[in-house]
Amino acid sequence: MNATTHKQQLLDMLYKPYKGCNGCHFKMPLATQIVFGEGDPDTKILFIGEAPGREEDLQGKPFVGRSGKLLNRILESAHAPRESVFITNVVKCRPPNNRRPLPAEIASNKPLLMGQIKIIHPKIICTLGSSAFEGLVGRPVKITKERGNPIFWNGITVLPTYHPAYILRNPKELETLIRDIRAAISLSFK
Ligand code: URA
Repeated sequence: MNATTHKQQLLDMLYKPYKGCNGCHFKMPLATQIVFGEGDPDTKILFIGEAPGREEDLQGKPFVGRSGKLLNRILESAHAPRESVFITNVVKCRPPNNRRPLPAEIASNKPLLMGQIKIIHPKIICTLGSSAFEGLVGRPVKITKERGNPIFWNGITVLPTYHPAYILRNPKELETLIRDIRAAISLSFK
């Protein structure tokens, strides 16, 4: 059995208790399903966003709306298409009105996220936006100050950058997001 198949089996076991859940595990009243994440479980690079939005909730896949289309384009331009990486969120169910996840929601989702990280065992984690970094590392971040600067966390290099949704509102920062994501990808090959 190759590493990808083995890790996928471990992920399936991790997800099993949550299968069929409509957000009840995480007390998300408007979510219709859990968006676990997708990609190559044997990748060296894991991307973590905030939480599913409407489109992600409908499709059961992370980053498939407007932010996701931008992320896909950046990944493709870096010769790392989304199937070759793994993409997930700190919170797995859509928060009501797409609001920022609450600390309690981040905490209740953390075991699932940590389980994914343990199985995937990436070399690099690229966090997209401040919620993702704060949810993972457990401290506040000023993303405009800390983006692009890798930190070492639990034996893994974590590179914080902007959330693609921020870039859709502030397109002048697009080149910065592209640069950060490319830097994270090249670190994963070192
Ligand atoms: N924004 C996120 O943070 N995650 C998604 O999956 C989609 C949009």
